Formats: sequence, C-alpha cells, structure tokens
Amino acid sequence: MFSWFGKVSFVPYTKVSDFAVHLKDGRLMGSVCQKCGYKTFPPRADCPECLSGEFSFREISGRGTVYTWTRIDAAPTGFEDAVPYTIAVVDLEEGGRLLCWFGDTISREEIAIDMPVQVVPRVFEEEEEIRVYYSVERPGTSWGKAPAPHLG
Ligand SMILES: [Zn+2]
Repeated sequence: MFSWFGKVSFVPYTKVSDFAVHLKDGRLMGSVCQKCGYKTFPPRADCPECLSGEFSFREISGRGTVYTWTRIDAAPTGFEDAVPYTIAVVDLEEGGRLLCWFGDTISREEIAIDMPVQVVPRVFEEEEEIRVYYSVERPGTSWGKAPAPHLG
C-alpha cells in the first residue's frame, strides 16, 4: 500500500542531505540556527523556534545516557536473523534522542537506565544508498572518522 514510502524523494536535494555525507565520514552532525542559536539533532534546515532557514552543521560527541531499553525476541520482518537483540533510546548530552542497538562493548548484564554511553554511527557499506544505524557503546569508545569534514 505504502510501498513507495521512504523510497521516492520528491525533491532531488534537501538542505540537510549533507548529513548523510558526514555520517559516511563517521561524524554525527546536528544543526545550529544562525539566527537564534537553537540546536537540534538530527539536523533541521528550518528552525523550530524562529523559523529561520539559515543553519550550519555542528558535530556532536554522541555521549549520552540510556533513557530506556528492551530486548527483542520476536523480531519484525527483515530482522528475524538478528534475534535476540537489545535496543535503547539514548538521551544525547547535547540534546536530542536516538534509537540505537547495543554494541559489543556493553554486556547485557550491565545495561541500566541512566547509564552513560557513547553512540557510534554505523554505516552499511555494502548498500549503495546510505543506510545507517547507531550502536550504544561504553563511554570512551572511539571509531573511524575521515580526517576532516569536507562539507560545511
Ligand atoms: Zn532559530
């Protein structure tokens, strides 16, 4: 019924599409409004506070705390091979909330609400179009990033 949803883009380019390029470089980018300073993650081209369309990207650390989590044993279609897996909603230190999968650096027995974590972007390299998920790792976990952002 809605098979086109998420597949068809009605505009060839959006103001925040460089977000995907930054993700490929290993960078988590939010936005900051150039008029009023309002910060968002993920980035938003139009400010929800003052409606200005002037924004710039800012890199965020990905540090945060576990807001809530659950273990999935009955997976939705397409994820049957991954069960059981554990997901979390993480409150980012610099604002915003992300749905993430727990990575290998945290054992299931350690997981607790409010525990400090590091969110790491993971890109499926085998896909032509960018697909990303976020994994929850122990604070201080590092990951590969390109040497310098090549977009503003
Ligand atoms: Zn604003």
